[in-house]
Amino acid sequence: MAVSIELTLGDITRFGADAIVNAANSSLLGGGGVDGAIHRAGGPDILAECRALRQTTLPDGLPAGQAVATTAGALPADWVIHTVGPVYSTMEDRSATLASCYRSSLAVADELGARTVAFPAVSAGVYGWPMADAARIAVGTVRTADTRVDTVTFVLFGRDAYRAFEDALSGA
Ligand code: ADP
Repeated sequence: MAVSIELTLGDITRFGADAIVNAANSSLLGGGGVDGAIHRAGGPDILAECRALRQTTLPDGLPAGQAVATTAGALPADWVIHTVGPVYSTMEDRSATLASCYRSSLAVADELGARTVAFPAVSAGVYGWPMADAARIAVGTVRTADTRVDTVTFVLFGRDAYRAFEDALSGA
């Protein structure tokens, strides 16, 4: 069955889902934006697991387009799935990498058995991706993903982001 897509306005750290997705950076050691908010609200257990990943399976960090799970610490979720969006470029089309963030995160969710997953607008903050295009890639990729996840909620931080995702959902 196709995944059901929902939109909500707000802070993803307060959203209850089996898994919430973090727009992390390759170091996995924290950053600004949604990454900083997730580590602040989730507490030190998330960073401890990220550090352990760097010492074992991911010594060079997590490449853009890939995803990995940790505990969600104190957040109202069971897991945080960290994915690294591409930095937006006008010289090079990195859309496939951004689409891969959503596909890889859903593949990790399937491995965990997560049925509800919340995403922020990956790459559309500090990494500079224009919101309308980020929304089109996000919605298009989730819509066509082969996954056992039932519901994906995009938790949008601000009305402009919400409107961009509404337009993408309605095909505008
Ligand atoms: P990136 O580095 O991938 O661009 P950012 O965290 O800078 O990641 O931004 C990604 C998106 O997440 C932006 O639209 C930003 O406004 C949004 N964002 C920031 N904080 C939160 C939050 N607490 N909940 C949901 N979205 C957030």
